[in-house]
Amino acid sequence: PVDRSPEVQEARLKLPVLAEEQVIMEAVRENPSIVICGETGSGKTTQVPQFLYEAGYASGGRMIGITEPRRVAAVSMSHRVAKEMNLPTQVVSYQIRYEGNVTSDTKIKFMTDGVLLKEIQKDFLLQKYSAIIIDEAHERSVYTDILIGLLSRIVPLRNKKGMPMKLLIMSATLRVEDFTENQRLFRTPPPVIKVDARQFPVTIHFNKRTPLEDYTGEAFHKTCKIHRMLPPGGILVFLTGQAEVHSLCRRLRKAFPFRKGDTLKMRKRRLLEAGIGDEEDGDSDLDLGDDPEKADASIPLYVLPLYSLLAPEQQAKVFRPPPPGTRLCVIATNVAETSLTIPGIKYVVDCGRVKKRFYDKVTGVSSFKVTWTSQASANQRAGRAGRTEPGHCYRLYSSAVFGDFALFSEAEITRRPVEDLVLQMKDLNIEKVVNFPFPTPPSTEVLVAAEQLLVSLGALEEPPCTGRLKDMQRAKLSCPITPLGRAMASFPVAPRYAKMLALGKQQDCLPYVIAVVAAMTVREIFEDLDRPARSEDESSKLNQRRARLTQMRRLWAGQGASLLLGDLMIMLGAVGACEFAGCTPRFCENSGLRYKAMVEIRKLRGQLTNAVNAVCPEVGVFVDPKMTPPTEHQVVCLRQIVLAGLGDHLARRAQGEDLVDPKWKNAYKTPLMDEPVFIHPNSALFKTLPEFVVYQEVMETSKMYMRGVSAVEAEWVP
Ligand code: ADP
Ligand code: MG
Repeated sequence: PVDRSPEVQEARLKLPVLAEEQVIMEAVRENPSIVICGETGSGKTTQVPQFLYEAGYASGGRMIGITEPRRVAAVSMSHRVAKEMNLPTQVVSYQIRYEGNVTSDTKIKFMTDGVLLKEIQKDFLLQKYSAIIIDEAHERSVYTDILIGLLSRIVPLRNKKGMPMKLLIMSATLRVEDFTENQRLFRTPPPVIKVDARQFPVTIHFNKRTPLEDYTGEAFHKTCKIHRMLPPGGILVFLTGQAEVHSLCRRLRKAFPFRKGDTLKMRKRRLLEAGIGDEEDGDSDLDLGDDPEKADASIPLYVLPLYSLLAPEQQAKVFRPPPPGTRLCVIATNVAETSLTIPGIKYVVDCGRVKKRFYDKVTGVSSFKVTWTSQASANQRAGRAGRTEPGHCYRLYSSAVFGDFALFSEAEITRRPVEDLVLQMKDLNIEKVVNFPFPTPPSTEVLVAAEQLLVSLGALEEPPCTGRLKDMQRAKLSCPITPLGRAMASFPVAPRYAKMLALGKQQDCLPYVIAVVAAMTVREIFEDLDRPARSEDESSKLNQRRARLTQMRRLWAGQGASLLLGDLMIMLGAVGACEFAGCTPRFCENSGLRYKAMVEIRKLRGQLTNAVNAVCPEVGVFVDPKMTPPTEHQVVCLRQIVLAGLGDHLARRAQGEDLVDPKWKNAYKTPLMDEPVFIHPNSALFKTLPEFVVYQEVMETSKMYMRGVSAVEAEWVP
């Protein structure tokens, strides 16, 4: 029995999913797999694990597992459920990539989908679990899709072996045909249980015009107007990224300051000073309907940011009621769309955009782009306003623009390279990846590219070159895994980096390879100081920090032979120096390093060190907090190891006839692209411009820039 507090009991009773407990549990008993659909906030994530627990699924030494596509959700939901059930976090726990609080007493385990995939590699039958819940399946994250494919096979296997396991797929939208009507996944379609959420009507207000650039400014004005003119109720603003979120938070805090002990008069005066008085401005698109309550602009706005990388303590604030006499205003990225439900929201301001990483299918060039979201997504966002009473959604775009949105967002698996997934599947002995029951399969072209890369890295066996063309093509898609490939699959990093780890034994290079691979995997180790300053004061501070960062980069890049390891030498220097200083926020701040990134690198270094020792116990590597810089010999060896992993990312300085064209000045040529690529001014090799380089990735910003560049000797080039 679960001993819940009276407040928790009362809050639970209001959740729509509670009315369906019988129906859900009956369906679970009678079917191996079921699908549950219910609006965000209906109680799926917090309650369904409790239903299973109370029905005895956590007894007999097995656990209930719940996967989330986002780390934020795994952590915060495990805390919430522990609290609701009055159980310690040793029993209701979480595991995400770098950390967790799982113990041998854990009964309910929240984890990211990537963590469960790794567990399947260790134990295909997932014998620790009696039930697996795949949450947020509508998001169609790559790992979620793969897990559903794998579990569609694991569940019947468990049944056959007489130790049944249940699969529950949960979605915030009704669009689940890709799972239920996919004959390759489930021969008998799993039953779909719909949870009727009490969703109050949300009035949608479209902008007449659509701001093409400054939607953050537009969001600011709209939020100010809502606060000044509309009755009490929380405001939730959707923007696309962390920087935008912070900038809007700052502006709003300045406009409607929240300070303890303020009098009404002081607030009104400040509003006038900020030019936000009560003047008429004849704004017609902000119609209030016939709400009789009056707004009071002198009420302070309690502004909170919300995004994935925000520290958990900060995130938890959005669930608490705002201080008395204030209005809650949350500025969020996509995380607030479905994974977290913020109580008390009556107004939603939607910029209509989303930031996504895009990959070029042929060249692998990636870029972050802000694009229009989908209609389904925009409707999810609007729905956030109608959880507790009728609400309003202000779309910062016109209805015509909305009409041009895609109906649904694409499954992630169709939008990115898949070599990491293919290697993991091969390690699971799924030789013909094309035949895998993907909810939405990636294109054959993308699968072939992945197998080719893995063959060139030595992770898969070379396909035979004889036989008929058709057979050869088929062989290209079913190359068996090699022993090297198995070792690579055991490292929790991309195959290119895994290859470097596998080669790291030479010349005692492993500790360096581990440090560099950790830094390349975490990415973005430096603070972004290229942003424009908002004030003169900030500008001079920024300039100081830029100068300091340039100095540090130069120091870490080393001298002589070390220089040729390029940006990877800088990474190595930064990681070493940071560890030496104890990885403190202060050190990072002073050196222009992102503290959060450095902490992740530290954890990943530990993890990779363990993984390497597990594959190859005789090397006995450890994380040395006083790592000395590599010797000249070791630098050469490191450069060769890097080339072995990044061999397909080779670039050569433009020469000959190309140089006539000014667009090729200081440019590099790569086999896959017609366009010139460049070494970034921040790179250690910007001045050197070696003839051959390898790069970690090409990012398209103002130009095509290579990142993570390292020099290669001409005679090494195959
Ligand atoms: P769903 O998964 O269907 O979207 P949830 O189970 O996440 O719904 O949320 C159910 C309710 O629990 C919501 O009203 C939400 O506000 C509340 N809730 C979730 N997490 C917390 C938390 N950490 N603190 C307080 N309330 C929370
Ligand atoms: Mg949920």
